[in-house]
Order: sequence, then C-alpha cells, then structure tokens
Amino acid sequence: MKPFKLLINGKLVDGASTMDVINPATEEVLVKAPRADKNQLNEAVAAAKAAFPAWSKKPLKERGALIQRLSEAVQAQAQDLGRLLTEEQGKPLEAAIGECFGAAAMLGYYAGQELNDKVLKEDATTKIVQQFAPLGVIAAITPWNFPLLLLMLKVGPALLAGNTVVCKPAPTTPLTTLRFGEICQQILPPGVVNVITDQNDLGSALTSHPDVRKVAFTGSTATGKKVMESVSSTLKRLTLELGGNDAAIVLDDVDVKDVAPKVFNGATMNSGQVCLAIKRLYVHESQYDAMCDELAKLAKSAIVDDGLKQGTQMGPLNNKQQYEKALGYLDDAKKNGKVIAGGEKMNRKGYFIPPTIVRDIPETAKLVQEEQFSPILPVLKYKDVNDAIKRANDTQYGLGGTVWSKDVNRAFEVAKQIESGTVWVNKHLDLPADMPFGGAKQSGFGKEMGREGLEEYTQSKIINMAK
Ligand code: NAD
Repeated sequence: MKPFKLLINGKLVDGASTMDVINPATEEVLVKAPRADKNQLNEAVAAAKAAFPAWSKKPLKERGALIQRLSEAVQAQAQDLGRLLTEEQGKPLEAAIGECFGAAAMLGYYAGQELNDKVLKEDATTKIVQQFAPLGVIAAITPWNFPLLLLMLKVGPALLAGNTVVCKPAPTTPLTTLRFGEICQQILPPGVVNVITDQNDLGSALTSHPDVRKVAFTGSTATGKKVMESVSSTLKRLTLELGGNDAAIVLDDVDVKDVAPKVFNGATMNSGQVCLAIKRLYVHESQYDAMCDELAKLAKSAIVDDGLKQGTQMGPLNNKQQYEKALGYLDDAKKNGKVIAGGEKMNRKGYFIPPTIVRDIPETAKLVQEEQFSPILPVLKYKDVNDAIKRANDTQYGLGGTVWSKDVNRAFEVAKQIESGTVWVNKHLDLPADMPFGGAKQSGFGKEMGREGLEEYTQSKIINMAK
C-alpha cells in the first residue's frame, strides 16, 4: 500500500511517530499510519490561519469550483477509497463504496450553494443587509463509524463559506481521511485543508487552540461534553453531533412482514454503529410475538463476515473497545431478557458480533437505557401508544426516531411527540443533503447539511444603513 502522510501547509509529511491501524475483520495490523504530535498540530493550525485571508477573499464561485473538483476526485477514487474504508472500518464493501459516493455527493451539493447577502428590510429611510462572513480556522473532528461521509458534512460547507480547516479523524479510521488529504493537496491552495491524526491525545489541544474559531465535532456525548468545556475559554463556535438511543414505535396496524426487514436494517446497518440506528424497538402487544419471530428469522439468516467478501451483509465492529462493550451488552441481554437470535460471540478472529434480538427485557436494562452501538436490538412491548411515546422520550438523548403505521396521519401525530432532531415515518435514514440534520437534548446542538449547515460556518453580520 502506498504510504500514508499527514497534510500540513500543502505538504504531505510523515508523522512525528507512527500508530498501528488494525483491520477489524482480521485483528491484524493493516498499516502503520502517521501520528502527529502537538508541534504538528500547531503547524497545521498555523497553516490554516495563514491560508485564511486569501481563501476567504476568493470569490465564492471559485471556491465552489474547487470543492466541485474535490467532489469529482473523491467520486473517481470511490472504488479504491471504498476498499480502504472496508479495511479500516469493517463495513461491507458495497456500503463502503456507497459512503464514498455519498461523500462526493455531499461535496457536490455544497459546491453549488450560494451565500448571497440578504436584504432584511428596505424602506424610504433604511436598508438593512445580512451578510454571512466566514469564521476562520475550523477544527473538524470525526468518529469512526462513517469517517469519510461525516468529514464532508463539515469540510464542504466550511470551505464554501470561506473558512480553512484542520481535520482530525478517529485513531482507528484515519486512512480514508489521509487519502482525502492527498486529494486536497492536488487541488487546493496550501493550508486550506490540513489533516492530522492522533491516538485520542490531541483533541483537547485542538479544541482549546486560540487560533481555532469553530469546532465541528461528531462523536460520543461523553467526549462532546469535554469539547464543550474546552471551547469555553475562547467562546469558540461549536457544533456537536453526538450519540443517540433512538426508539422505533411500531403501531398496531402494521404489516409485520413488510416492516420487520426495514426495522432490522435500521438496527443492524453498519453493524449497528450508526448514530441514528434503531436502538430500541417498541411494538404493540397485538403484534409483539409476530414481530419478534420475524426479526429473529432475519437475524439468523444474516451473513456476517469480512466486509471484503462478496455477499457479506454485516462486517465486524470497528475496534476492540467497542467489541468489548458489545460483549457486555450481550451479557446484560442474557441476564435480563430472552435472547431469540444471536447472543454468542463468533468463534473466529475479528470483532464480530452476530445480529442479536432480545425480547421480554425490562425498560431498566442497560441494553435499553444506554447506546449499545452494536447489532443487539431490545424489543419492548406496549399496550397504550402514549406509554410507548413516554418511554421513547425517557432518555437523555434526542437524535432520531421512527414511527411505523399503515396510517400516515396517525403516525405523524405520534412523530410530533417524539423529542428528537429527526423523526421518520415508514422509512429510515433518508438524509437528503439539502435538509438540516441535528440532535435534541444531549444528542447535541447545531445543524449539519442543508442551508442551515452552511450558515453554521458563518458569522451573521447585520449592516444597517440610513438612506
Ligand atoms: P468519540 O467521542 O470517542 O470520538 C470522536 C472523535 O473525538 C475522535 O476523532 C476522537 O479522537 C476525538 N476525541 C477524543 N477525545 C477528545 C477530546 N478530549 N477532545 C476532542 N476530541 C476528542 O466517538 P466515537 O466512539 O469515535 O464515535 C461513536 C459515537 O459517535 C457514538 O456515540 C455515535 O452515536 C456518535 N455519532 C454521532 C453522530 C451524529 O451525527 N450525531 C454521527 C456519528 C456518530
């Protein structure tokens, strides 16, 4: 494999040291990746700061044209990037290539956006104009579940608005981000995008850096709280896209055979490592047994294997820490509920957890209360839909949720009562680039995607003129 380098000030450079990146399907070292130190972090921020004046003054159309070129390059390399993504992250190859196309599309969407001044008011005596000024250096910090796609949600709007960026991927999935750095090196002026990597040890130096103006963070709620604390000394702008414990509520009128595969996919896609995955399922008592049986059938027939093997539906979990956490949830499921599919770790190398369906589990169980981030789904029974809504909302999280019913109006009334940033009705994970996305409660704040996601990278400025 071609060696991996950091991108600092338009140069591809070695890290101060190296770190092993593990293939989660084999537990073998895939590659020694560069690891930056604090000096390199400071160099990256300094480069982004130095690049900001010229980049922010470039006409928006020219910035958009360069972002479009980034999009086309990511698209052209989607097959290779996808393979690398499977190797570092674990997801099936088709899904990995899909993520790369999604990343290219996200860049393409932002390449075509505008940030024109808005005339807010004009009369005989006054004209009031709103401008959207760039902020400066953006720190883009990403997790390991969708490393490339989630980065583009940040880089696309940040660059279009005239900011410069320092990217920091998660330590277990730095490789696709480093390859994206190579693409940026070919296309963008030096310093506009920089890529550094770490072993979870540079985050706070980046978020507290006095020359960083905004932190765009996606990751766990626990780390998000640390980030919020760390930006407070400089009152940086902050977007936090954090964890979730999303409920799906299945109303009593559904066709179980139709809904079960959709729910199953929503809970087990990317081996359950999706912030918006279905993490708790509430089913009306009249359908409960049928839904449990159907889900168990799907779980038993799912093909769990190395993501590079054709036909694989689910790959391994991404890393040992997450794997061990998932084993803890399996123990909890066995103690507190009835496991009707999966439940045992697989007898092979790799961080594989089979899809697991757990029924008759109390609301108080760890698997129900916490974000499992693995393909282990608790199925809970309800009698009265108001009770299901109450239980769905009884969590610190508020990221997403789904409602399933043959009657869309009835489902809409339920959806309105779910306390979260997004609720889907009779579908899941449909996230158009032009629609805003973000969390409620401790799932974070601020928006990504759409016009709102672009304005997050700007300072709104009002110019109020007497005529
Ligand atoms: P994590 O919080 O452990 O790490 C996320 C990133 O933060 C990594 O790059 C990590 O190196 C970095 N980091 C670690 N310590 C830091 C610190 N003190 N300061 C700044 N950065 C630091 O999260 P993870 O385990 O990689 O990802 C899984 C979590 O992400 C889940 O909770 C999931 O729900 C959430 N997530 C949320 C969204 C969303 O859009 N809301 C999307 C994907 C994942």
